Amino acid sequence: MRVLVVEDEKKTASFIRKALQAEGFAVDVCHRGHDAWAAARVTPFDALVLDIMLPGRDGLSLLRQLRQQGNATPVLLLSARGEVNERIEGLDAGADDYLPKPFVIAELVARVRALGRRGGEAKTTVLRVADLSLDTVTRQAERAGRVIELTVREYRLLEFLLRSAGRICGRMAILEKVWDYDFDPGSNLVDVNIKRLREKIDADFEPKLLHTMRGLGYQLRESP
Ligand code: CA
Repeated sequence: MRVLVVEDEKKTASFIRKALQAEGFAVDVCHRGHDAWAAARVTPFDALVLDIMLPGRDGLSLLRQLRQQGNATPVLLLSARGEVNERIEGLDAGADDYLPKPFVIAELVARVRALGRRGGEAKTTVLRVADLSLDTVTRQAERAGRVIELTVREYRLLEFLLRSAGRICGRMAILEKVWDYDFDPGSNLVDVNIKRLREKIDADFEPKLLHTMRGLGYQLRESP
């Protein structure tokens, strides 16, 4: 299990890291919200230990943004205050568990382990960005509660874009993942299919989610 610990107090961060490592977890540490955001976007962690009070970007705003981008990594929130309001706010923002400081390290380890198990079982079958969702078991796509009919290829394209939500997907990567091509057929295959998919998932809805990144590829994300 790979865990990202986000905590600006270096002693606490190092204490948590050592305790988790001693239990066999692979642990990455970030001291700032922005660094954690960058790390979580490129690395699939099994769990996040996230302190609320961070300099710059705080834990709750980071958590909201991760969830908005479809990142479903289980999150254990840490808070110095332990207030009821903050706890509710944290759970509303998409936290899976909450631990007030000061905590007993054994409890933190046990909770992280429980989160990892839960994540492993759930491995959410529903991929989501904003009000667009795709159930990878039933293969049903919906936007704003309306079912969207997809061809097999469109389904694969949407699944790939959703799994890469927030990242730019180049044409070559799309050809590889969706068409299993390891060469560029030199056609506008990707662009044509993106256009069709866009008509289904974006044309009748706001905000637009599927963006063209000129010269780079495509990106599925909520923010403009
Ligand atoms: Ca802190």
